Amino acid sequence: MKPVCIKNGWVVLPNAVVKADIYLQEGKINRISVIGDGAVSADTESASFDANHQLIDTSDTSFNANHQMIDAREKNFKADHQIIDDRDAYFNVNHSMTDAAGKTRDAKHSILSTASNDENFTVIDARGRYVLPGLVDIHNDAIEKEVQPRPNTLFPLEMSLLEFERKLPLHGITTMYHSLSLGVGLSLRGDHLLTEMVELINRYRAKRSIIRNRIHLRYEISHLKGLHIVSQYIEENKIDYLSFMDHSPGQGQYRKEGSFERYVMKNQGMELTEAQALVVDLMERRKQIDWEQLRQLGHQALQQGISLASHDDDSSQRVDIFKSYGISVNEFPINLETAQYATEQGLAVCIGAPNIVRGVSHDQNLRAIDAIASGAASIICSDYHSSSLLQSVFKLADEKIAALPAAVRMATLHPAQACGIEDEVGSIELGKAADLIIVQRYKGHPWVTHTLVGGKTVYTADTHYQAD
Ligand SMILES: [Zn+2]
Repeated sequence: MKPVCIKNGWVVLPNAVVKADIYLQEGKINRISVIGDGAVSADTESASFDANHQLIDTSDTSFNANHQMIDAREKNFKADHQIIDDRDAYFNVNHSMTDAAGKTRDAKHSILSTASNDENFTVIDARGRYVLPGLVDIHNDAIEKEVQPRPNTLFPLEMSLLEFERKLPLHGITTMYHSLSLGVGLSLRGDHLLTEMVELINRYRAKRSIIRNRIHLRYEISHLKGLHIVSQYIEENKIDYLSFMDHSPGQGQYRKEGSFERYVMKNQGMELTEAQALVVDLMERRKQIDWEQLRQLGHQALQQGISLASHDDDSSQRVDIFKSYGISVNEFPINLETAQYATEQGLAVCIGAPNIVRGVSHDQNLRAIDAIASGAASIICSDYHSSSLLQSVFKLADEKIAALPAAVRMATLHPAQACGIEDEVGSIELGKAADLIIVQRYKGHPWVTHTLVGGKTVYTADTHYQAD
């Protein structure tokens, strides 16, 4: 396979956005060649830059770009770039920057192009586009909806997996922890659908993969009969991430009277009497939870290198209990105090991208944006809606809640760290896997044009017509 070069993109590094060429070799990031002095859109933790790039290709050989950049100190830089490709292997760039104090600075860059070597590479032109690390999604249960889009319609599992996986690279997701529930979700129909799906994903990924498919097993702790299944999966190395859930009525997500019944009636097509019987049954089983056995299960997972999470915690007491079981992630805390407490305890707090995009929680719990703005959340997952993940990242940057590199880290490096795969994926760094996405903005929407996994282009998109 010819090595790949992604040229002229705005590359989102862990702490900066730079214009750079990225060279890929043998599935890994081999060289990052920053164009110019790298300062054009250098970003820091405390600064945020807006850039409106308008690249007009006038004659195949010359480009005009107007940048407006505002950094945290409220200084205003205007830069007019005129980039002339003289086809003789280098570019001339003239910058003229005027800052808020009215000082004008001129900068002339002469940039050597690698154009003369281009025939040795498959070149992807990312001019005017962002290059991001592929998104790492540690919680998305949409595969369950692919299998069962309506309460009583089941589709073949293999078809569901193949078709669902294909949708992920177009949303920029290159690592997916498919979230499967043991005790709710598919398991409401018996555990066999869940176990079939776990086996299927493991068989499939051993032979073929578009993206990196992983399994996030969500264990409903009142599902007592499920405990030995979890233990067996840990032992057989069939899951990659484990979370403890407690969706019993009266606390967490369902602490409001009647909210559990409403949920199962809507999602599983149950009658009220059925839902009420389920509540009685659940409350009875909840009393029988062996918490010591659960702690041991957590310990077993950690020994196998499987990260743990707790789910929907609504108090510091809940966080403390699960922290003593070895969790490193606290997903979807119900309120800001719990999110803040979990963060103080050194846990990664994971929140949902749809909540960020829509600006509200689907059940009026914690607003994800508030958690991020107050530093009480560090991971974004797509939850149930894959296309929201990338949208949420750009929304955070556009609304200046986080600088772009910081927003990107929440959907890449931080989840990778939480699951212990950060040496391999999660950021654009030399030697890491070439899991990259190229993003064009159309009317503010981030639109993925290329997705690469392990240096291989698994998805490309183009428009056949575009008037503006
Ligand atoms: Zn929940």
